[in-house]
Amino acid sequence: MALQKKKPLSVYIHVPFCARKCLYCDFASGPADAAEIAYYMRVLQKEIRSFSAIATLYRVETVFFGGGTPSFVSPVYIEQLMNLLRNQFDFAERAEITLEANPGTLTEEKLKIYRGAGISRLSLGLQSVHDEELKLLGRIHTWTDFLESYELARKAGFDNINIDLMSALPRQTMASWQDSLKKTADLEPEHISAYSLIIEEGTPLYEKYGEGLGRLALPGEELDREMYHYTKDFLAGRGYARYEISNYARPGFECRHNLTYWTMGDYLGFGRAAASFLEGRRFTNPAEAAEYWQAARTSYQHFRAQKPESRREQMEEYMFLGLRTARGVSREEFKKRFGTPFPRVYEKTLLDFYRQGLLTQEGGRIFLTDEGIDVSNIVLAEFLLDEKEIV
Ligand code: SF4
Repeated sequence: MALQKKKPLSVYIHVPFCARKCLYCDFASGPADAAEIAYYMRVLQKEIRSFSAIATLYRVETVFFGGGTPSFVSPVYIEQLMNLLRNQFDFAERAEITLEANPGTLTEEKLKIYRGAGISRLSLGLQSVHDEELKLLGRIHTWTDFLESYELARKAGFDNINIDLMSALPRQTMASWQDSLKKTADLEPEHISAYSLIIEEGTPLYEKYGEGLGRLALPGEELDREMYHYTKDFLAGRGYARYEISNYARPGFECRHNLTYWTMGDYLGFGRAAASFLEGRRFTNPAEAAEYWQAARTSYQHFRAQKPESRREQMEEYMFLGLRTARGVSREEFKKRFGTPFPRVYEKTLLDFYRQGLLTQEGGRIFLTDEGIDVSNIVLAEFLLDEKEIV
């Protein structure tokens, strides 16, 4: 009997604990005591086990421990979760296994256990090389703390490291952003993510800078765009290609896990507020702790109960996510996936954007131009469809 080919799968594990809440953060995360962490980890394992019925159909290509701060909890939990995943699923030989870590929470001992557990990639939250900017964001670490953690990680053998940076901070100047970029690139990480700060309502930073006179401390839109363009050119000069709106990598070090999201591959998310997309069904776990504890044990049934997304929704997402990447979307893949040629669905939208110079095409692929990236939210929103537009 021919063996059924296993489908590729990405797994996200949410660890919602942090040493302290940063002042800009609206994620499902925060401090917790040892008992709460231990309980959460038990529930998380039950949730993963609830998917055992379909585990044999898949081969795990990537795992991403995100948060929160996964490096805040005992590394033994990470080891246990990896053992459980390996017992339950087949893993690809060169699976990419990322762990998000914050400076100030890493030790030699932890890094050694991560290596033993198979973690192959670290994502370090730096945000800025300036201590006064880190303080303003409410980060727990300094630039010196970061350098210590980075050195420890390299010594422990990590040869695939991402560094997160953040621009458009209150009172940030172009010179200070350039300095952050330069000092980060000098360290030669394999990957750099550079996002603009978004001041979310309900956070302490919003109270200070979200409205009224406080907004004046924020770099205006023009400076924000200047920072963005500088980032792309500077990092290109250092050998980092922009492969998604906010992500830059040395050749061969693009984050495979995130590429699963942007190309609409299958992924399962475990933990509070974790999202999944599997077999055309999209579902998200409750963000509230008590609700998640209730739901986690029957997570698999929850997945089965979801209606698969409509063809229209999938087309929209395919465009919306794919156009975020530098490779853009392929006409051929679109036809293969949806059984209808690309222009038949999006003819008018495409022509309008080609004329305005916001989209371009090459080798059967369509992607945003630099001008298109500057207004990407507006461009991407135009790929939402009416039911009647689908042929
Ligand atoms: S470390 Fe990350 S998840 Fe934790 S509070 Fe800060 S921004 Fe939020």
